[in-house]
Amino acid sequence: MKPDLLLPASPIVRPDKDRFLNEENPFEGMMSRFDRAAELLDLEPGIYKVLRHPEKQIITSVPVMLDSGEVEVFTGIRVLYNTSRGPAKGGIRFDLNVSLDEVTALAAWMTWKCAVVNIPFGGAKGGVICDPLKMSIGELERLTRRYTTSIIQTLGPDSDVPAPDVNTNERVMAWIMDTYSMRVGHTVTSVVTGKPVEMGGSLGRREATGRGCMLVTKEALAHLGMPMKGTSVVIQGFGNVGSVAAQLLQKEGCKIIGISDRTGGFLNAKGIDVDDAIAYVQEHRSLEGYKKGDAVTNEQLLTTQVDVLLPAALENVITTKNAAQIKAKVICEGANGPTTAAADAILDAKGIFVIPDILANAGGVTVSYFEWVQDRGGYFWTEKRVNESLQEIMERSFHAVLDLSKQHKVNMRTAAYMLAISRVATVHRLRGIYA
Ligand code: NAD
Repeated sequence: MKPDLLLPASPIVRPDKDRFLNEENPFEGMMSRFDRAAELLDLEPGIYKVLRHPEKQIITSVPVMLDSGEVEVFTGIRVLYNTSRGPAKGGIRFDLNVSLDEVTALAAWMTWKCAVVNIPFGGAKGGVICDPLKMSIGELERLTRRYTTSIIQTLGPDSDVPAPDVNTNERVMAWIMDTYSMRVGHTVTSVVTGKPVEMGGSLGRREATGRGCMLVTKEALAHLGMPMKGTSVVIQGFGNVGSVAAQLLQKEGCKIIGISDRTGGFLNAKGIDVDDAIAYVQEHRSLEGYKKGDAVTNEQLLTTQVDVLLPAALENVITTKNAAQIKAKVICEGANGPTTAAADAILDAKGIFVIPDILANAGGVTVSYFEWVQDRGGYFWTEKRVNESLQEIMERSFHAVLDLSKQHKVNMRTAAYMLAISRVATVHRLRGIYA
């Protein structure tokens, strides 16, 4: 039986269906994938319209007293894309490239990501346009506290729960938690995730995204009949996600033949000792000058002959310009949005098995959910319990997406969007529109 429509039926008008897609605009890329999945799901027009719009976008001016005594005014953004399934969940980034379009796309991705792994959160994202590398710790603390105060009306364990993202970390989360707690008059640990373990953070959260990447790569290789042992892997980005994924994949028998960071990449066909490379980065703050491999550019690294490519740095690195040259059999998207929508078709035509970002890097938000559960329950899990629960959710989600992709003869990305959108749409049908 067709469920009741939220809004009167009318033909779906897809505003940008026949328009040239701006490959660099993440919101357009996200929407073109959403549209394809919505069409295959035969989504009713009312729900289609609702899910195409963010619920709330806040743009706020954030005045900060600099160390010099001058006042600078920064722009802060928080977008709640959809909260039908639960509190909004999503990171806060401090970066010069933050824009409303980007934050909205990232908030929508968080909505689909939480739905793919079936955790009871909606999606959000936030950011402040600034260059944190040029700011002192004191300036960053004042910026964080003023930004938190500017968006305080959305924040709360039941409404909007931030986490770290690009250029923010557990210290920033501690400031947000403290600012919120001072405003409400008591300590509320569950208002943010990705906090220090000493103040309500979860064991296993730091490694969760890389661990999730390892787990879904393992499932993908088993599905394709490829062994873990000896499978070659190239990883772009050697930060939290990339270095942990490299370490865990190596432990499972894979050979890491290439790594990179913002300073460039290194290839070594015999295999890179990941622990040694991590120690090098800890000492030198980047891979620059690393001696145990041949130096390559990030562009060369992406097109290396390899079994698994794991982009774990930035958005829009696999585009129409280089997709045809990619030689990997499997791509595991550790980063958010590393592949442009226009490049999807090229990868499909080459028969590359892509584990899409909203599935591949969902380990982080899954353990953030465990952190929120632990804070609210006031009872903290062992690392073993965290890792086992994460494994169960990642494996179950991978197979749910794979089954749907086989059933509808679509790629893993479209299947992941279909699964996510159908879960969000079901809740909208059940809840209806409050008027
Ligand atoms: P990070 O800051 O710890 O590491 C980023 C890495 O990318 C660094 O090694 C940096 O040098 C490298 N990098 C930056 N610019 C680069 C460039 N132009 N070319 C090559 N490498 C470059 O960040 P992270 O937490 O590891 O996040 C990486 C990606 O994963 C981001 O897209 C992020 O949104 C996504 N992600 C992270 C998490 C998480 O839990 N940390 C969860 C989901 C998704």
